[in-house]
Amino acid sequence: MQRRSRLTDEAVDAVREAVDLIDLVSEHTKVERRGQRFVALCPFHKEKTPSLSLDPERKLYYCFGCGAGGDALRFHMELTGDTFATTIEHLARRYGIPLRRASGPDADGRPDRSERIQAALEAAYDFFRAKLRTEPVPQQYLQRRKVPSELISRFGVGYAPDDWRTMIEDLSRRIPVPDLESAGLIARSPKAPDRPYDRFRNRLMFPIRSPAGRLLAFGGRTLGDDQAKYVNTNETDHFRKGTLLYGLDAARRGIREQGRALLVEGYFDVLGAAASGIDWAVASMGTALTGQQVRLLSRYTDEVVLGYDGDRAGIEAARKAAGLMLEAGLNVRRALFPAGQDPDSLRLDEGPEAVRATVAEARDAVAIEIDDLPSRAELDPRLRAREAARVRTLIDRVGEPIARRGYFETAAERLGVKVDVLLRESAAAAERPAAPDSPEPAARPRPPVTSSIEEQVLRLTAAAPDLRGIEWPAPDAFFDPALRAIYEAMREQAQAGAERIDSGALVDVLGRRRGTDNETDRPVDRIAGLLLQRSSAFSESDESELRVSLAELGRRFARQRLNLLAREINRAQREGDMETLHRMIEEKQQLSRQLYRQSGR
Ligand SMILES: [Zn+2]
Repeated sequence: MQRRSRLTDEAVDAVREAVDLIDLVSEHTKVERRGQRFVALCPFHKEKTPSLSLDPERKLYYCFGCGAGGDALRFHMELTGDTFATTIEHLARRYGIPLRRASGPDADGRPDRSERIQAALEAAYDFFRAKLRTEPVPQQYLQRRKVPSELISRFGVGYAPDDWRTMIEDLSRRIPVPDLESAGLIARSPKAPDRPYDRFRNRLMFPIRSPAGRLLAFGGRTLGDDQAKYVNTNETDHFRKGTLLYGLDAARRGIREQGRALLVEGYFDVLGAAASGIDWAVASMGTALTGQQVRLLSRYTDEVVLGYDGDRAGIEAARKAAGLMLEAGLNVRRALFPAGQDPDSLRLDEGPEAVRATVAEARDAVAIEIDDLPSRAELDPRLRAREAARVRTLIDRVGEPIARRGYFETAAERLGVKVDVLLRESAAAAERPAAPDSPEPAARPRPPVTSSIEEQVLRLTAAAPDLRGIEWPAPDAFFDPALRAIYEAMREQAQAGAERIDSGALVDVLGRRRGTDNETDRPVDRIAGLLLQRSSAFSESDESELRVSLAELGRRFARQRLNLLAREINRAQREGDMETLHRMIEEKQQLSRQLYRQSGR
């Protein structure tokens, strides 16, 4: 095992200081000078004319073709799949920076916990791969499912043998047992806690990787009659299932080339899609799609084709997923698989052409719902009202106003009512506080609409020549965590009296952060796009747009807070918690007055 040091902020700073972005990018693609900037053919998508823009001063890149962007560290991570830590080490060696060790428990240079888990996972990966090559059971199974051997290698599918201790006995010669346990590869029974056993037995093993390709976990499908068809390595701080999409590391390039992603349910659907020539499919791994998964996907594309099973449960899941994705500002299409068929079973029954055709014919997800509405010929008015309400809540989540209006018009025509009826109902629903018995509010509420207003505010703030006299709402007004971090840093500068944003200092502050979600969402990568996209001068209308948008963000937050207060006041009343009740009623009145004043201006 390589001896590694822990990274300090100073080490990260020193590397970021030393790195030469142009030199780094030139290694992979031809760079040309254009005035102050440099341009290059983008290595992240296929193109003939250069759309990758490079800023050598702030060391940021942004591609106008595919939206890839970030700092020099991100560029290296994206191209190599290295982790943040490995990237720093690699670049430190390259630019001759000595890495000093941090003080603390690991000051002796022992690899830190995440590196030990990584080593355990990699060892298990090699073990599972080797077993697949020698054992007949998984080979026969994969043959029956007609999985091409090229795909088995591309996706690194392996096999956990049908035994309790084969893996642990093999791996514990190289990897300490506690590390295997931290990696979620072994389990212990309460009856014999000192005799750990293999967590995965007689299962086909699918490696789950970060978008950059780092191995994070495994999903195992039983080849026997185990009750649990699928089992994952247990969730750790290293691996949270709801933050990842299976297959994204392999599909990234295809998604950017196609300009869209196919979202399916399981591992075999991703393989089945790939076997049908669709190398831009990712899976939510069986569970309901999460907001984090949607945000992750939206970093790579703005159009998603839903390829869920054609049965009742699949349609229901697709509807929920569509709502989440519309809220995130994505265009959503639905591929209509026959009932009981998913991409992989359709490939086996009717061949890869059938899968390609079904995906190619995918239709706008909202339009499908509108077409499903009972027509004006349907006589039961209550049925029509109920269906209308369901579709209206879906249309409400479409962020783009012109598209939303268009959907309402089509739906009204279909239902045989005036469009105003639907629009009034929609406006009324937006004003209504949430019902008191609705589920408890999450710690941080989901963004109600696309977050593009947040990006717009940041873009304008970065370009504004005079920031004095502007009112800055609290950072909580930003729902997107990476954008919130950028806003906080900008607001700090403005409140310290800066006339304009010092973008170099901003990039320095943010560049040190690793970001959440397995290093995929570093604020500095988002700011690259915001800073490099804008080239024209700041006009007077920009100035007023900035003020209006900031105020709108403040109001959006206040409205949401009001909804939450209404629910909480209700709860406090039920529970007789008078102190909380008074405090919240007071806050509610203050907020209402504030909102009223602002809208009256
Ligand atoms: Zn690109």
